[in-house]
Amino acid sequence: MYSKIISGAVLGVSAVTVSVETDISAGLPSFILVGCPGSEVRESKDRVWAALRNAGLQIPVAKITVNLSPADLHKDGTSYDLPLSIGLLTCSGALPASASEDILFLGELGLNGEIKPVKGVLPIVKEAAATGIKECIVPIDNAEEGSVVPNITVRGAQNILQVVEYLRCKDENILPAVKVDIESLFMNQDNYILHDFSEINGQEAAKRAAVISAAGFHSLLMTGPPGTGKSMIAKRLPGILPPLTLDESLEVTAIYSIAGKLDKKQALIMQRNIQSPHHSITLPALVGGGSFPKPGAISLAHRSVLFLDELTEFDRHIIDSLRQPIEDKEVHISRSKYSLSYPSDFLLLCAMNPCPCGYYPDRNKCKCSSSMIQRYLSKVSGPILDRIDMCVELHSIDYSDINPFNKDSSAAKSNTDSLSMREQVIRARDIQKERYKGTNYRFNSDLRANDFETFCHLGQSELSLMENVYKKLNLSIRSYHRILRVSRTIADLAGSSDITEEHLLEAIGYRPDMNYWNA
Ligand SMILES: [Zn+2]
Repeated sequence: MYSKIISGAVLGVSAVTVSVETDISAGLPSFILVGCPGSEVRESKDRVWAALRNAGLQIPVAKITVNLSPADLHKDGTSYDLPLSIGLLTCSGALPASASEDILFLGELGLNGEIKPVKGVLPIVKEAAATGIKECIVPIDNAEEGSVVPNITVRGAQNILQVVEYLRCKDENILPAVKVDIESLFMNQDNYILHDFSEINGQEAAKRAAVISAAGFHSLLMTGPPGTGKSMIAKRLPGILPPLTLDESLEVTAIYSIAGKLDKKQALIMQRNIQSPHHSITLPALVGGGSFPKPGAISLAHRSVLFLDELTEFDRHIIDSLRQPIEDKEVHISRSKYSLSYPSDFLLLCAMNPCPCGYYPDRNKCKCSSSMIQRYLSKVSGPILDRIDMCVELHSIDYSDINPFNKDSSAAKSNTDSLSMREQVIRARDIQKERYKGTNYRFNSDLRANDFETFCHLGQSELSLMENVYKKLNLSIRSYHRILRVSRTIADLAGSSDITEEHLLEAIGYRPDMNYWNA
């Protein structure tokens, strides 16, 4: 007897369908699982056996061979439990072969026959729909996630008996199709801002830098003494980015699905987030990979913000590992068992103290020697500093700024709030969208040098200003290009098609090498 059941496996952020072929023949009772199964898949046999027995279903005592095809693809995870048991039941004649035709199965089994959630349902259902499969049976907790894929019916099952009963009589009421209307979910989403910039007193320069950074997707480094609100600003940055589009949301949801980070019954990720890994983070946790490959923090920050607080505390090899993903906007991971890529188009935000004690240049408080400061700053390697577009310094807040009884304090005056900042960002983003139509660019920060003439044209006086600055400040070429990109965003925020001297001067003020590092 032979049966063939369809399942799927995740490969990077995409997926492939996998056939689970079962053969039962006369011979000494045995169970052989072939087709490059990983350890979790090998354990599947014991779970399936117990689950079927406890659900009152019988498996013949015979020689059983199961093959997972394509055999050269390494298979891991627990999602093969359900297809494996359906294959066994079909092969032993408990289910008709036609019952599971054109249906993809995914799910982990508990020993009592309960079906538990698995990772990667969204990309696998998407692949199933693309290959013309009409129906998927997935764990009930993953059904919403799978149902966002058009042109395929997704059913969520609670236990194995429910699936068997449905396959026997095909009664829709036993396993109703789950359908989430993503368009209306999206239309009605709440764009409520949880953390508002208006809660931060003062620090107007940093707020302005945050707007420019969000508008042009420019990476930003904040320096300043402890307690000046660097983390507060970071927390509020996702709130001023434009809301995710539906396509972006599907992209991000697929990554969360593979990482197993979607909440139960969550259909879509609709908010931009911030990933703030601790400086003790391991390389696989940051960039992805590991023995069972999954996306790292930089991919969970895709289309959102990656915040590295206390930048100087991170190991140099951890920071340097970001160079390639920042450059390519995706991370490539090669191990002996696999080679794959995850998207990683994130906005890089970093924060650090200016010196070991944190109070430089306030010489009343800071007693660090200049060599100590130099050694401290040199922990941030040149290559990563090269990838930071802007730097802004935060200062200790004056009492007059926090005094609510002082009419001129920023606490009493209406503060810059997130909503108006987001409006500015969206306006500047719309200008960029229009400008870069038909090109590979999305944001001003993507601009390459050979297109500066087309998109960052400078007039005569602006050119001579830049020439002066270039010579006087002994700028590097990279620095020079960064100034042009940032000034393009500043001009867009001002609604100006030309970059003026004023825009250039503001951009020059954000040079990372302005205050501490030499160009
Ligand atoms: Zn110090």
